[in-house]
Amino acid sequence: MSDSNIVVVGGGFGGIYTVKNLAKKFKKNSGVKITLIDKNSYMTYMTELYEVAADRVDADAIQYDLQKLFCHRKNVNIVTDEVRNIDRKNKQVITKNGSYPYDYLVLSAGSEPNSFSTPGVEKYGYTLGSLEQAIKLKHAIEEHIRLGAVETDSSKRKSLLTLAVVGSGFTGIEMIGELIDWKKILAKKQDRSIGN
Ligand SMILES: Cc1cc2nc3c(=O)[nH]c(=O)nc-3n(C[C@H](O)[C@H](O)[C@H](O)COP(=O)(O)OP(=O)(O)OC[C@H]3O[C@@H](n4cnc5c(N)ncnc54)[C@H](O)[C@@H]3O)c2cc1C
Repeated sequence: MSDSNIVVVGGGFGGIYTVKNLAKKFKKNSGVKITLIDKNSYMTYMTELYEVAADRVDADAIQYDLQKLFCHRKNVNIVTDEVRNIDRKNKQVITKNGSYPYDYLVLSAGSEPNSFSTPGVEKYGYTLGSLEQAIKLKHAIEEHIRLGAVETDSSKRKSLLTLAVVGSGFTGIEMIGELIDWKKILAKKQDRSIGN
């Protein structure tokens, strides 16, 4: 391959392995530059998200610094920026803070959770598709349990202490497994904080 700019958007599993393999393949070809753009400076180990949501592990345990991951690859440039648009005509990736020309473009920006219009899910539910969402979900569960533990109205208490998981794929099933274990820990924590 002659001199080329390869831009990869998204530093998740897809983007990381693409960049890793390209960097290895073109390590002796100094004309080939690889740029990895992600809105975060870290890669999230998505398969462990539910463990953060259920307070089993801290958020930083599932984050991998992208600069560190590729520090030995001289032909890889890491950019932390949010991609806003692709100008296909002029072969440019447009980001919040700039633009990046490309000869070859790999789009690996992942996916987003979908409620499939299930009534109530978007209005009342939380999603589990990123680290930020996992942390938000964890705090929401802790808050519901805290409020439920001190609620004297039995029907309100039941409602606050009832959690529903929508979606029984891997993510939903793993989340339920974590909730089963976390339930006991949360109950003990509330017992202690209200002095039982
Ligand atoms: C809770 C959970 C558990 C899972 N468990 C498993 C499992 O056990 N086994 C399995 O095989 N799969 C599992 N999966 C699925 C797996 O995580 C995904 O298939 C995989 O992460 C997809 O990789 P990807 O690189 O396509 O996208 P992602 O890993 O989602 O990466 C996308 C990247 O693009 C970045 N990005 C997005 N938009 C922009 C933008 N506009 N600008 C810049 N950067 C952007 C994001 O920051 C992110 O880093 C699980 C998923 C979840 C949510």
